[in-house]
Amino acid sequence: MPVQRTLSIIKPDAVGKNVVGDIIRRFEENGLSVIGTRLTHLSAAEAGRFYAVHEGRPFYNDLCAFMSSGPVLAMVLEGQNAVVLNRQLMGATNPKEAEAGTIRADHADSIDANAVHGSDSEENAAIEISFFFAALDLHSRG
Ligand code: ADP
Ligand code: MG
Repeated sequence: MPVQRTLSIIKPDAVGKNVVGDIIRRFEENGLSVIGTRLTHLSAAEAGRFYAVHEGRPFYNDLCAFMSSGPVLAMVLEGQNAVVLNRQLMGATNPKEAEAGTIRADHADSIDANAVHGSDSEENAAIEISFFFAALDLHSRG
């Protein structure tokens, strides 16, 4: 399996609940390494740029408001098959549909406040990583 990088964001709800450590533990226990971190508080405009792919969808404005409602922890995860592995650990977008034991099943309250973001492809991972990080911010173990 290829070694990949992917972007994870611990969203404002999960940062506010103080479960950052529990979420990172799940990544590390499943073979992903945190190679860059940034705790930041996005403006609504910045959240809008990050989620530009969803512009025009009915949930876009609420999504931008929620993502700018408090601090988020952006991280780059690295490991074998990191993109799909992160999505598996996250669980389904709607926590009601998320498999037991996933991050969203355990920590998400709703489809809006769903604890984590994860890149959905290697191509989007590269774009999303560059939104938050410069190459010099990333420190690979490999
Ligand atoms: P994911 O975060 O699982 O990749 P999407 O990329 O489809 O999901 O959507 C981005 C975010 O927008 C979701 O995590 C969720 O917070 C929000 N969202 C998606 N679909 C809906 C919806 N139908 N109603 C409300 N919020 C939604
Ligand atoms: Mg997505």
